[in-house]
Amino acid sequence: MIIKENGKISDGFYVIGPAAIPVYLLDGPAPILFDGGFTALAHLYETQIKEVLGDRKPAYLFITHSHFDHIGAVSHFKQVWPELKIGGSVRCQEILAKQSAVQLMKDLNFEGTKNLKEMGVHPLNEKSFEPFDMDILIQPEKMIEPSPHLSLMGLSTPGHTWDFISYWIPERKILIASEAVACYQNDGYLQTEFLVDFDANLESLKKIKDLEPIVLCGGHHAVFTDEDAMQHISASVEAANHYLTMTEEFLGEEKGDINRSVSRVKAVEWDNRPWPKQPESAYLLNTRQRVKTIWARMNKHRNYKKC
Ligand SMILES: [Zn+2]
Repeated sequence: MIIKENGKISDGFYVIGPAAIPVYLLDGPAPILFDGGFTALAHLYETQIKEVLGDRKPAYLFITHSHFDHIGAVSHFKQVWPELKIGGSVRCQEILAKQSAVQLMKDLNFEGTKNLKEMGVHPLNEKSFEPFDMDILIQPEKMIEPSPHLSLMGLSTPGHTWDFISYWIPERKILIASEAVACYQNDGYLQTEFLVDFDANLESLKKIKDLEPIVLCGGHHAVFTDEDAMQHISASVEAANHYLTMTEEFLGEEKGDINRSVSRVKAVEWDNRPWPKQPESAYLLNTRQRVKTIWARMNKHRNYKKC
């Protein structure tokens, strides 16, 4: 099944907030949140989390990666639930300590909030993005024991970013993969999500496939269950390879001109996609990064051939 709405996915497991910018909640003796969504939607997440938990509080929040639309409401959650323990990778913590990275997140958050306001989304938290401290540094491929009743493992799955951690709950075969897999868009388009390294992304997808998840949580818009989980992993590999071929062709024709190649990719993927979609500046930032990554990869391969 492909679940495109918020609410209950399976026993004690929920999509909180809009499915386009979700926070995942695993209820239990120590309720766990995965990712921190958008700053602007902080009140919406808070209300929906309280609807599930009642008087109980989330105990942990584990972060997949340090992008503004995945950690936006974390500092709000920490204000509401001061005992909430935040976990993420060492690299994620290092990024949050950089003033330039925090400023970029504030800027992207500002634009995202403006878009939501124009769309009439309510209620909106119009505060700026604020960084936060990490309580738990995740050791990749090691068990995290948030409670005696639950095993959870953080897996290093780079490619979208270098700080990326996917979270695996083996007993239930649930994988919070977020943007380690391609993003299913509301028009059905599959947005490949490697940004920093194409080949690392494919390696991560292989690692994800070997787990054989039966609940696969994407970064935006959809959760895939049963046979659709494995299908989406294969489709993510195909989408990445298709994107590589297309972009290599554009870069070849444009003789390595990044700007012109980015415009051509954008015309294929973004221009005609209906709203709500990723804001233009965030899309352009990511696409520029993907195109530059492919251009560097093409040159590396060319140099190898010369040797
Ligand atoms: Zn991201």
